[in-house]
Amino acid sequence: MTRSMFAGTDGKEIRSDRQDGGSVTPARRLFRVSSDNRRLLINEQPQKSTVFLRNPEGLGQTQREVNPMGDSTIADKNSPYWWEAAPVKPLPRQPLAKKLDVAIIGAGYAGLSAGLVLAREGRSVAAFDAMNPGEGASSRNGGITSGSIRPDYAAITRRFGEDKAIAIEAEGKLAREFLYDFIKTEGLDCDFNLVGQFKGVIGFDQYEKTARNAETLAKRLGIESYAVPYAEQRDYIGTDFYRGGMVRMDIGGLHPAKFHAELLRVSLASGLTVHSGTRVTSVEKDGSEFRVTTSAGTVRARQVLVCTDGYTDGAVPFLRRRLVPVRSRIIVTEELTPDVMARLMPKQMTVTEGRQLGFYYRPTPDGKRILLGGRDSSRAGDPDGPKLVLRKGLVNLFPELKNVRLSHTWFGNVAMHRDMLPRIFEKDGVVYATGFCGSGVVWAPWVGIHAAHKLLGHRQQAHSAFDFRPPAFIPFYNGNPWFMPAIIQGYRIQDQIAFYRASR
Ligand SMILES: Cc1cc2nc3c(=O)[nH]c(=O)nc-3n(C[C@H](O)[C@H](O)[C@H](O)COP(=O)(O)OP(=O)(O)OC[C@H]3O[C@@H](n4cnc5c(N)ncnc54)[C@H](O)[C@@H]3O)c2cc1C
Repeated sequence: MTRSMFAGTDGKEIRSDRQDGGSVTPARRLFRVSSDNRRLLINEQPQKSTVFLRNPEGLGQTQREVNPMGDSTIADKNSPYWWEAAPVKPLPRQPLAKKLDVAIIGAGYAGLSAGLVLAREGRSVAAFDAMNPGEGASSRNGGITSGSIRPDYAAITRRFGEDKAIAIEAEGKLAREFLYDFIKTEGLDCDFNLVGQFKGVIGFDQYEKTARNAETLAKRLGIESYAVPYAEQRDYIGTDFYRGGMVRMDIGGLHPAKFHAELLRVSLASGLTVHSGTRVTSVEKDGSEFRVTTSAGTVRARQVLVCTDGYTDGAVPFLRRRLVPVRSRIIVTEELTPDVMARLMPKQMTVTEGRQLGFYYRPTPDGKRILLGGRDSSRAGDPDGPKLVLRKGLVNLFPELKNVRLSHTWFGNVAMHRDMLPRIFEKDGVVYATGFCGSGVVWAPWVGIHAAHKLLGHRQQAHSAFDFRPPAFIPFYNGNPWFMPAIIQGYRIQDQIAFYRASR
């Protein structure tokens, strides 16, 4: 059961329970707040009906909200925009091998990239995914090839020393370059465009720091990057919200679901077996091998690689206590006119912000819509509240979009270890490739491929700054991130302080 939040005729929010799963919901009992704010009124008249349309592939459900009162600015569809061009779908059932060289859990970017390398090295390898392959974060993301690391250089230095900080920064550059080359050499048709990224700052004090950062990137890593003062900002982004920012030209955008579909295509062609809709329920050591129990039966494997990131469940309890799933949501506008797009996104760049709870956004690959993402602090169901938060953020940036309709909204899980660094690590013989902190378009293939080389014993090719000790255990945590509201509140306060310092 999920909860929906609708705008009532008197402008107050009305909540109504909805049961997922029916084809058409009947007229529902809606609640409305009286105009004096004191009474909860029951309204038997359906003000908004929810129609569940089975999509043509018969996969899951696409929800279209139809509001006879005319307010359909929340979003037409609660499903990824990306699935229109590249729907996620089940694969034909495959017989389960009795014995494998490697069993991979998870068939997102990380699992498939690893499987591709292992299959090409002649290993018998199968990836198991509880959902349709790609239905996790890998077909739901913003498609921005950021390859960023959440803790900044100073924080990594403080915690792990300067050598590690330099190695991680340098590896980001290599990982991005690897991805772009990989897309080209494998011929992956995924609308990749190296358009660059604008990062907006909210105060002139932040601008100085950002300008220095751009200079460091250029000097130390040879990345084309430069500061953009407030006076020139509109050449890059059609808003006055920021107080300048910086541009880096080593970041672009791709179509994430097409990228996943293409990765799946080349992986299958290379001999990787992918079992869709097959959940791994346990992994047990049995002599020199592992017994991997799945919803389709049991398989013995010499090695096991875990690539479950934000969808990690109880199959591998060690990881579950060390990885926190965090919900991220995206909204997409209806098609905007070419002159609006040219005004708001003149260089078609991807955009990020200096705020802790900032937004990321970009034009869709056809250049006709704006896609904006950010945190979704809801914990259950699919409420409309977080959509409205994103919508408000969009309008704050671009007031002229006040009345624009949204076509799609959806959410997915990103995942972070306690230190917010992606990882390749080994525990009791099982190898893990996880914790991409919302930057897995670059990191998941990179880390997945390095994990595969680790399994193959290729010491040189496996070398990575992210291959180190297992992430720390999180006290009083076993998969339910009860502490997230407090953390988000902490970030909110930090952002408020930053706004205050910026005299805004
Ligand atoms: C809304 C959103 C926006 C994002 N935007 C960006 C962006 O713009 N740029 C960027 O770089 N990154 C972004 N990310 C992050 C990026 O999508 C992820 O880091 C990346 O896709 C992770 O890939 P993965 O293969 O590790 O995991 P996933 O793609 O999440 O795959 C994990 C898979 O494991 C499977 N699984 C879990 N448990 C089991 C089990 N027991 N048995 C079998 N299968 C199991 C799941 O079904 C799932 O398919 C975003 C993520 C989200 C959710």
